[in-house]
Amino acid sequence: MKVQEARYVMSNSDYQKCPEPDLPEYAFIGRSNVGKSSLINMLTEKKSLAKTSQQPGKTQLINHYLINDLWYLVDLPGYGYAKVSKVEREKWETMINDYLHNRQNLICTFVLIDVRHSALTADLEFMAALGEAGIPFHIIFTKADKLKPGQVANKVEEYKQTLSELWEEVPPMFVTSAEKHEGRDAILKTIET
Ligand code: GDP
Repeated sequence: MKVQEARYVMSNSDYQKCPEPDLPEYAFIGRSNVGKSSLINMLTEKKSLAKTSQQPGKTQLINHYLINDLWYLVDLPGYGYAKVSKVEREKWETMINDYLHNRQNLICTFVLIDVRHSALTADLEFMAALGEAGIPFHIIFTKADKLKPGQVANKVEEYKQTLSELWEEVPPMFVTSAEKHEGRDAILKTIET
């Protein structure tokens, strides 16, 4: 898929105020600093569609972008901010859960994982909750350029192993590097089909 047009539509905290659910939607989420903004900018080939390296905790909204007038790309606020209060965390949980459970046109959620990290509780818990709720998701490993190819393969294998101990079916996985512009086509192809 060629991204001809990518434009910001709106940000808000209430799924009911999101754009009319009349186009297919794909959401992106992960721990803070995982490389989500960089990945979105790479996918859309826009240098600063999603802002990179915003101060953690500052982007606690559901952000909609319209791609080629055909589908919505949704940038969801990340989890795992160390400095966020309990109240803020609960607000985040309510907002995200409401969105994920009720958004009719949400086709798939992409969960981003920094490829250098072994499976972290916050990620596993988040994915387990998605699985239990029957919300389809794929995994995107980010920052692959930070490791050697063999190390990347080992990390992905390790992750697969961990997940297969928890579930019968392991979700589809993608390896990406925003730095090296890698992994873009496979993700866009999945969205396209
Ligand atoms: P976000 O908080 O998840 O939106 O993460 P950002 O996209 O802002 O990235 C966090 C940091 O990781 C920034 O310093 C980015 O430059 C860096 N980063 C993001 N993606 C990559 C990547 O693919 N390779 C490398 N080497 N650094 C990356």
